[in-house]
Amino acid sequence: MASKQYSGVRESHPGRVNDLGTTGREVKENYEKGCLKRADRTFAQGLQCQQINSMAALMSLEDSVFISHSPQGCVGCAIMAVDMYRVGQAHRGIKNIKNPRIIVTNIDQKSVVFGGENKLREAVKKAVDRYNPKIAFIYASCASGIIGDDIDAIAADLGYEYPDTLMVPIHCEGFKSKICASGFDAAFIAINKYILKKEKVPKEDDLVNLFAPTTVSYADQKEMERMLSLIGARVNYIPFYSSLDKIKKIPAAKASTSICKVFADEFMKTLWEDYGIPYSHTVMPIGIRNTDIWYRGIAKVLGKEAEVEEIIKKEHERIEPLVQKLRERLSGKRVFICGGTGRSFAAAALIDDFGMELVGLETPTYDEDAQVDIEYLNGIHKDFVVDIANMQPFEQVNLIKRLQPDAFIGVPEWAAKLGIPTTHVLDGKRPTMGYDGLLFLGNKIADQLQNPGFNKKLAEHVRLPYKDSWYEEDPFKYITR
Ligand code: SF4
Repeated sequence: MASKQYSGVRESHPGRVNDLGTTGREVKENYEKGCLKRADRTFAQGLQCQQINSMAALMSLEDSVFISHSPQGCVGCAIMAVDMYRVGQAHRGIKNIKNPRIIVTNIDQKSVVFGGENKLREAVKKAVDRYNPKIAFIYASCASGIIGDDIDAIAADLGYEYPDTLMVPIHCEGFKSKICASGFDAAFIAINKYILKKEKVPKEDDLVNLFAPTTVSYADQKEMERMLSLIGARVNYIPFYSSLDKIKKIPAAKASTSICKVFADEFMKTLWEDYGIPYSHTVMPIGIRNTDIWYRGIAKVLGKEAEVEEIIKKEHERIEPLVQKLRERLSGKRVFICGGTGRSFAAAALIDDFGMELVGLETPTYDEDAQVDIEYLNGIHKDFVVDIANMQPFEQVNLIKRLQPDAFIGVPEWAAKLGIPTTHVLDGKRPTMGYDGLLFLGNKIADQLQNPGFNKKLAEHVRLPYKDSWYEEDPFKYITR
C-alpha cells in the first residue's frame, strides 16, 4: 500500500528545482551539498502548462472526448499534440485521418463572476450526445480552479445521466505546478481513480506495459516493441494510440516500463503500490549507452538478464561500424541541447557516441535523476552551461549567441533563426530511439551540418525580437536565488 498519497504536483518531492543558470560541475556539487534552492525569475516568458500535457497524453485514445473547462486560449498549445496525433495516424496506415474531439467551455468574464458550472454541464452533454464516446475527460484550468467550479461533482452527476460514458475529471489547473510533467501525473491519477479503481484483474504472464507519450514516433514504437519481443514480452502500448480496453489491461501486466523518463514514472510507482506490478525506471533509450541501460533495466525486472546480454552483444556488432562512420562526420563538433528532461539528458549521452562536445544543456527540471545523468556527462564532457528553464527562449538565444555551437539538438525554432544547424529531438515523425533510431538521428545531425543552407537563409531574413544589448547581458540576470 502507498505510505503517502502523491499529490500530482512534482514540486512536492524534495530536491526538485526549476529556474537556474549554472554549469554541469556547479550544479552537481551544489546538489550534493543540498545547496540547490528553488528559485524564480523576476521576468519570465510563458511556461508550458501542465493542462496541455494532461491532454496530449490521452488525446489519441479511441472513442474519447476532451472537454476543457477553460478560456479558449488554454487549449492553444494542443496544436502540437494534435499534429503528432494526425501524423501518427498517417504512419499507422489510417486513411481517414481524424482530429481529436476537443471541446472548450469558453470560460469568460461572466462565468468568472457568476460561475461556469452550467456551461460545463451543457458542454459535456452536447459532447456525449453528439459523439457517444466511451470516455469523457473533463479538464480543469486555472480559471475553473480559481472560481471553484466543482468538476468532480458535475462528472459524478452526469455519470448517472449517461451510464455508457465514463466521466473522468482531471485536475490539471495550470497554477498548481511550474513543472509541466505534473500534467502527465494528473492524467494518470485520474485513470487510476476513475478507470482502474484498484480492481484486480487476471494476470497475463508475458504482458508488459510500455508507457509512451505523444511525441514517440511509430518507427520508435515498432523498435521498442521489437526489442521487447526479443526478450519474450508482449507489449501493452499505452496511452498513446490505445483504447479503454488497453487501459483496463494495465493491472494485468507482469511489469511496466516507460520510453520517457518523466512520463508515467510516478504512475509506475503507483502501479507497484496498488497492483504489485514491478517496473523499470532508467533512462530514455536514445544512443548506445542509454539504449543498453533501458534494455537491461526491463530485462532485469523480467528475469531475462542473460538473454539481453546476448542480444546487446549482437546489436553492438551490427551498429558499431555504422556509428564509427558517423563519428568521422561528427567528431569534435560542439553542441547545444534543449529538450524535455528525459530527452535532453538522453541526447547529451547520445552525442558521446559520435564524439561530439556538449557546450550547453537546457532542461526544464533538476532532481535526483538528473544528478545521475550530470555525473555521467561531467565525466565525458568539459564543463558546460546548464539552463534549467521551462521554455524561456530569451535565455536560450543569448546563450547560443555566446557559445556559438556547431549544432543545436532540440526544439529548433530559435536556434534555426540564428542560423545554427538544428535537429529536432522531439521528432514524432522519424526514428530516434533504440539501436536503429540512433543511426537515423546521427545521420540527420550530420546531414544538417553538411547542409545548413536553410537555417542560414532564415537567419538572413528573420529578425528576432531582442535588442543587441540583450546579447551582452548575463543570460541569467532575471533568475533570483
Ligand atoms: S490552465 Fe492556466 S496556465 Fe494553463 S493555459 Fe490555461 S491559464 Fe495558462
